[in-house]
Amino acid sequence: MAFCEPAEVVWVTRISPSVIRVRLRAVGPWRWFTDGRGDERIDLAFPRPGEVAADVSYFNDQHAGITRQDSSPPWRHYTTRKVHGDGAEFDVDFVMHDGGVAARWARSAEPGNVLGVFRGAAASRAYHAAPVDTQWQLLVADATGLPGLARIVEELPEGMVVHAVVEVPAEADCQEIASRGKVTWTWVTDAGGAASALPDTVERLSLPDGPGYSWVACEAAVARRVRDILRGVHAQPRSRHRAIGYWTAGVAGHVEQPREALT
Ligand SMILES: Cc1cc2nc3c(=O)[nH]c(=O)nc-3n(C[C@H](O)[C@H](O)[C@H](O)COP(=O)(O)OP(=O)(O)OC[C@H]3O[C@@H](n4cnc5c(N)ncnc54)[C@H](O)[C@@H]3O)c2cc1C
Repeated sequence: MAFCEPAEVVWVTRISPSVIRVRLRAVGPWRWFTDGRGDERIDLAFPRPGEVAADVSYFNDQHAGITRQDSSPPWRHYTTRKVHGDGAEFDVDFVMHDGGVAARWARSAEPGNVLGVFRGAAASRAYHAAPVDTQWQLLVADATGLPGLARIVEELPEGMVVHAVVEVPAEADCQEIASRGKVTWTWVTDAGGAASALPDTVERLSLPDGPGYSWVACEAAVARRVRDILRGVHAQPRSRHRAIGYWTAGVAGHVEQPREALT
């Protein structure tokens, strides 16, 4: 079993003005492992400029970067928006933005192009973990956190009370997401990043009584501001929320560890 496996593009479709969905199919016998956690992370390696296939062998060569002089191929964190069948195929939603290796790749992706997929071991890399006594949830995301939020909402237990606050660049980026839970949606339309309305929106909320759980996934500085509001304004204990920085304004590239340790 290799650390980095190839997956080829099956199809590409723009599901809204700012989001391109790509279906990937495992090349060979390997399968994407999923244990059903909605915000499970997938790390993707991209082709070098001018190439159509990611160099998976680079990541499977333990001497890469030591004996090889070529530059490391780019890779980024994403979310498996949907896993099909036994993990042979899975969808990834790419948010469009200026610049960016991954966003640029998705804009011109075609069937047959190949990405590298870093294999999860025997557990998914996910961050949403509501304690068993949770009676309500607050889910807060920008467009990059929406794929994870959508899966969490789709997989909610029957009747779970959730308030989902989602920031998207344009009204047409709002999505219809089915759920067995009792979900209240607040869609915020703005440019995000430094101008994000998520902190003010969360500050104005009146949160239910009883044990709750909050999950936040958006630009890193915004995630910290929302976290501070959950603690300072809503007095939510540290053990009952998780705020993850999905990207950092002005900084390109993957992060060694997602900026998750904000609790
Ligand atoms: C656990 C996890 C799950 C994620 N899941 C998803 C997902 O499902 N879909 C998704 O689209 N992203 C997701 N992200 C975020 C994604 O990894 C980053 O947006 C990444 O920087 C995109 O790579 P890039 O090559 O396009 O841009 P980069 O080369 O990394 O960045 C280039 C420039 O663009 C800026 N930038 C990066 N992202 C954005 C953005 N969204 N809006 C505006 N400016 C931006 C950077 O600040 C930088 O200035 C996830 C991140 C984490 C940690």
